[in-house]
Amino acid sequence: MIKKEIFGMNLEELQGAFGEFGIKKYRAMQVFRWLYEKGAVSFEEMTNLSKADRELLSEHFNLGSGSVKAIRELASGDGLTNKVLLEFPDKACVETVVMHHDYGYSVCLSSQVGCNMNCAFCASGISGFERNLTAGEILAQVYYFQRLLQVKGERVSRVVVMGSGEPMLNLDNVLHALDILHSDYGLCIGYRNMTISTCGIIPGIAKLTAAGRTINLAVSLHAASDSLRTKLMPINKTYNYLKVIAEADAYEKNNGRQVMYEYILLAGINDSKADAQALADTLQRKNCVVNLIPANPVPEKGFARPSQQAIDDFFQTLKTRKINVTLRKEMGKDINAACGQLRARALKEEKSC
Ligand code: SAH
Repeated sequence: MIKKEIFGMNLEELQGAFGEFGIKKYRAMQVFRWLYEKGAVSFEEMTNLSKADRELLSEHFNLGSGSVKAIRELASGDGLTNKVLLEFPDKACVETVVMHHDYGYSVCLSSQVGCNMNCAFCASGISGFERNLTAGEILAQVYYFQRLLQVKGERVSRVVVMGSGEPMLNLDNVLHALDILHSDYGLCIGYRNMTISTCGIIPGIAKLTAAGRTINLAVSLHAASDSLRTKLMPINKTYNYLKVIAEADAYEKNNGRQVMYEYILLAGINDSKADAQALADTLQRKNCVVNLIPANPVPEKGFARPSQQAIDDFFQTLKTRKINVTLRKEMGKDINAACGQLRARALKEEKSC
């Protein structure tokens, strides 16, 4: 008999499955709490269930969250950022990062194994797209860190879906996972403390709008002209940036959350005064914020980070044009915390072995 994976099932799914297997339905809430409030990794831990029920559970279900393995771990010199390469039982691996901010712990999640968006500056797609992550695998990344934090009396209080992969191409699983994290009997993380970042998949943004959550939307813009954006982000050919911005405006109007535009600064590519003016022209009078990200150079991609002067000038041009702008607080630069870099390196080393 093929066992069902229990980690990633929501309350209704647990109730449905328990009914099928002769486990009392009210047990579903108890199990839900064990999985998502307490972060249990085995059925034996679920001590308020009878031994017979625990046996039924292990007969019918796998609890895979406990079988993710950290195969590489890196800690930044300042101790505030930790990055792991997590491996699932099929050997697929993804990167997950935890950042210790003054307001608490934030986890940056991957949504896919690899990526096929082919952004010119990004390491995630270097070896192509492998597969979508399941809701359980998305959650397993959060709980990997949550388990380490809870023994110190701390918790994950924010999640950003900004790791490897394009979340809008796996939106059902991403939302399923975020809804579980939001639950009062999960980690109770407010939607306002969750962010989904997209390269600009219009149907995905529309679907997120319709889902009606107050999740923050981030859009990776990186250029404010069609020709440059298409060079940097081939997805611009399918979903032109002006149409993406119009869809993001609709998100802001319907869901009441200010949109964040991410803009990587790449030396000599998109960091001139004219680029800043074009960006300001595009976003003027919108309820949005621009987050400038000085590029994290990926050796395989050949882009460089601009000088501090160029970064400051770009920032000032936007400010003068009354655009809300922030400069990303760079965390973990010394441990290659940009998307996909640790995995790309591990895969390369594996190939050369
Ligand atoms: N696919 C989604 C989410 C993953 S990327 C998206 O495109 O938004 C998360 C953010 O990291 C994006 O803004 C992406 O453009 C940025 N990023 C990727 N590679 C980077 C690099 N080398 N340096 C800095 N930021 C990078």
